[in-house]
Amino acid sequence: MADLHSAESLASPSPSTVPCWDEQLIHRYNITGPRYTSYPTAPQLSSSFTQSQQRQAMRQSNLKRSPLSLYFHIPFCDTVCYYCACNKIITANKQHAAPYLKRLHKEMAMQSECLNSTRNNGWEGKRIVEQLHWGGGTPTYISDNQMRELMAQTRQHFCLLDDDSGDYSIEVHPGRMNVGTISVLRKLGFNRLSMGVQDFDRRVQQSVNRFNSIEQVDELISAARSAQFHSISMDIIYGLPHQTLSSIKTTLSQVIELSPDRLSLFNYAHMPHLFKTQLQIDETALPTAEVKLQMLHYASDTLCRAGYVYIGMDHFAKPHDSLVVAQQQGLLQRNFQGYSTHGNCDLLAFGVSAISSLGNSLMQNYKTIVDYNRAIDTGVLPMSRGLTLSDDDLLRKQIIMQLICQFSLNIAAIEAQFSITFSEYFGEELIALEPMVADGLIRLTPQEIVVMDRGRLLIRAICMVFDAYLKRENAPTDKQKIRYSQVI
Ligand code: SF4
Repeated sequence: MADLHSAESLASPSPSTVPCWDEQLIHRYNITGPRYTSYPTAPQLSSSFTQSQQRQAMRQSNLKRSPLSLYFHIPFCDTVCYYCACNKIITANKQHAAPYLKRLHKEMAMQSECLNSTRNNGWEGKRIVEQLHWGGGTPTYISDNQMRELMAQTRQHFCLLDDDSGDYSIEVHPGRMNVGTISVLRKLGFNRLSMGVQDFDRRVQQSVNRFNSIEQVDELISAARSAQFHSISMDIIYGLPHQTLSSIKTTLSQVIELSPDRLSLFNYAHMPHLFKTQLQIDETALPTAEVKLQMLHYASDTLCRAGYVYIGMDHFAKPHDSLVVAQQQGLLQRNFQGYSTHGNCDLLAFGVSAISSLGNSLMQNYKTIVDYNRAIDTGVLPMSRGLTLSDDDLLRKQIIMQLICQFSLNIAAIEAQFSITFSEYFGEELIALEPMVADGLIRLTPQEIVVMDRGRLLIRAICMVFDAYLKRENAPTDKQKIRYSQVI
């Protein structure tokens, strides 16, 4: 087994770190809703957003000179996981990667030219890349040499931190990678590893066509710790076919033994009408909603008792982890990669379907490889849709992000920052919050909104009250039910 940090050696959680479980409340508020990796959420992006608006957003972002967060989307996977809801390309033919990477390099050159971020005679005055992430698909689908080339190109166009102080992370599929790649990744500058484990139970793995043994994961974790990765995070999914409360208990005890620094516990949302891959899931083998709630209850309780802190929205981390520290300091943020300590950064994203967030604008690249290729080959930035946030968007974004990250909102600070009178601006929302106050989900005073222990698991439902787009769509409509997953 890996160099295990025993669960008992972690600091004891304070009672408030264990999310409060109230079955009745959960049933009452377990509606469908967004995950708020952005506000407004991605469905609000519009194809009427123009290239000139994009260039304007880049110019404005450059004037502010905030540090950068770079995201690279590697869409390829050599096998398909049946639960997948990602934008991916399934192919065992690795030849497909080379032309895509060539275009990714070209896109980087085009975007860095717009941002004037390329090294000229040095990096003086250039924006620092505080955060970098490769996601997918399966980033480790590409060869070690292709990874070296992608990172070399990145270093030509952007000012990366060479002192290991950035947050440079990569998603890996533990069943589909060579342990030798760990040291390659570390040498390239990665210091955070995110592993999609999902479940160790063989029957569950077969039912979703995703395989990784506990030995493989253990070996990768040992290698990553030897290579001094700063943090290892693990994704687990509950609600998969053939999962039972008993099988989840076993998987969780194995996960706790392996002792990742962060853990994401995702609820499998079966939406085959949106994600065709999920048609391959045997619906009759899915656990019932009741059993899924039992799994979540058991998992959140067990993880907190093992020393993990509940960050919010499916995420747990050890007490020393930077996400926990940022939350305690009121600095936690949320972006397209989930919770983050780098909310001050402008997010620049590359590759098919990738979403950038620069200043007050959101912009998404073409979702299909054909459209993406065509744009790059004709020398055009591959942006297909976007949105410039209005003043109202910015205000609501701030409120939603504070609630979801900090579980509290300082009303006076919001009034001062946005020059509003909260009670007048949000009259309807305050009325909508009344049942949540009565149910003990939140405490509401003229000065603040505080999410109580009973409301923490239901934070998405609380945030939805401030979502103007849901209100316009007259929430919760059938359209939303089709588009969004259950809040827990
Ligand atoms: S879940 Fe990840 S690895 Fe599996 S098919 Fe989807 S993108 Fe690929």
